Amino acid sequence: MHRRTLVKSAAALGLAGGLGFNAFAAGKIKPGAKAALIVVDVQNCFLDGGTLAVKGGNEVIPVINALAPAFENIVVTQDWHTAGHASFASTYSGKKPFETTKLSYGTQVLWPDHCVQGTDDAALGKELKVPTAQLVIRKGFHKDMDSYSAFEEADHKTATGLAGYLKARGIKTVYVTGLATDFCVAWTAMDARKAGFDAYVIEDATRGIDLNGSLAAAWKQMAAKGVKRIQSADIQAA
Ligand SMILES: [Zn+2]
Repeated sequence: MHRRTLVKSAAALGLAGGLGFNAFAAGKIKPGAKAALIVVDVQNCFLDGGTLAVKGGNEVIPVINALAPAFENIVVTQDWHTAGHASFASTYSGKKPFETTKLSYGTQVLWPDHCVQGTDDAALGKELKVPTAQLVIRKGFHKDMDSYSAFEEADHKTATGLAGYLKARGIKTVYVTGLATDFCVAWTAMDARKAGFDAYVIEDATRGIDLNGSLAAAWKQMAAKGVKRIQSADIQAA
């Protein structure tokens, strides 16, 4: 391309003049006071050596640690189950982890016992560094109901209170990270849309479980609900 053509196209894009080439950096997302980073379930249970370890789960930690300073508002979630929880295969005789069962609110995937309240397994990963996080929201604490989403429990009715908290603080947009992409991250992002927020999933700050094609299915469902898929490099560093 000739220089003249380049300058012309730059002008057409509104990049000419004082903005210069810094304008390209300005194309990145700069989360402000009305945005929140949501760090979903970065807990020992979902990390290497945990009771429900997500493959590559530990790899999200450095990405989230690097993103955190760019956000004024951060919410952290914890899966927080009772012993003998309805989502545990061990609760039912003859059921194995990763099979399903029917519960009052629909089909429930049965998991190994994981993230039991107060155990080290349920604690946040030690390497996770989000000291400015303002809210830790726990979910899945009703014995008879699961809660993948940080907004609503599995009956799609019982609120966790997160939507009210974010709205009361004037937050309009959420950026969802953590574990696992195809379950708690996806349900959180889709319920954020349902509650009226703009929602992004930062893909390289998540890892999936991918149970019978669930990862591809989750991305498709999220796209259909208007959840946007971005990478951590799309966020302007602090
Ligand atoms: Zn769980």
